[in-house]
Amino acid sequence: MSSPLSLLFLGTGTSTGVPVIGCSCPVCRSGDSRNARLRSSVLLRTERTTLLVDSCPDLRQQALRYGLTAVDAVVYTHAHLDHVTGFDDLRAFCWKHDVSWRLPFYAGPETMESLERMFPWAFNESRAFKGYIRPEPHVHGGLPFCVGDVAAVPFRVEHADAETFGYVFEHGGVRIGYACDVKSIPPDSKEMLRDLDVLVLDGLRFAEHPTHSSVGESLELMRELEPKLGVLTHMGHDVDYAETSARLPGGVVLAYDGMMLDVE
Ligand SMILES: [Zn+2]
Ligand SMILES: [Zn+2]
Ligand SMILES: [Zn+2]
Repeated sequence: MSSPLSLLFLGTGTSTGVPVIGCSCPVCRSGDSRNARLRSSVLLRTERTTLLVDSCPDLRQQALRYGLTAVDAVVYTHAHLDHVTGFDDLRAFCWKHDVSWRLPFYAGPETMESLERMFPWAFNESRAFKGYIRPEPHVHGGLPFCVGDVAAVPFRVEHADAETFGYVFEHGGVRIGYACDVKSIPPDSKEMLRDLDVLVLDGLRFAEHPTHSSVGESLELMRELEPKLGVLTHMGHDVDYAETSARLPGGVVLAYDGMMLDVE
């Protein structure tokens, strides 16, 4: 029997995180820990493989909170700051290794270019000092790739002007789709999202937003794509966990920081 594919939500908040600095709204002041949201990131794990999706600005806190000390690869959705600026904390996953070791990065071409522009020292081979992050860039160009015993199938989504990919992660017959920042999903990509065990989508807020799908728009996508379980993430302070959860249709839940799904 194969091991499960587990999905740990390291963070489930939009770019501001929740609570929002200076805000005293009920969600920001809430005593419900499920309303406290670090910036969005997930960890996919099998018995053999650990795969981090994005390096958000809260990566240090997330690694400490969840005992994350090693990753086999980092997979990037896009280069918005709330998904990349924890980059330097990835050093912690390199410095136990020999200086010749590289941390595999998987990203679309524009995202990889942005990373190289933002963090040029890390990509400069002549400066590959021990203690620095030492990436091994893999530009996936939208084609499937494998990390250990996890297969990843990128799919394009519409989100602001940034090249943005979601991913279907597969292991032992289990398929988990993840698209945390998405306004809409093109028809070609939708075809790849049928018969998923879990589909994770953007659930920023209730009102429509120009670059993120609202809770209502994501629920519509869930109805159309019919995953066994739908999960909303990347939420702002409009979304109260308990109040919103009570109104969701069957088969759809809100993510919260620390939520773990073991899918077999
Ligand atoms: Zn984001
Ligand atoms: Zn607030
Ligand atoms: Zn974004």
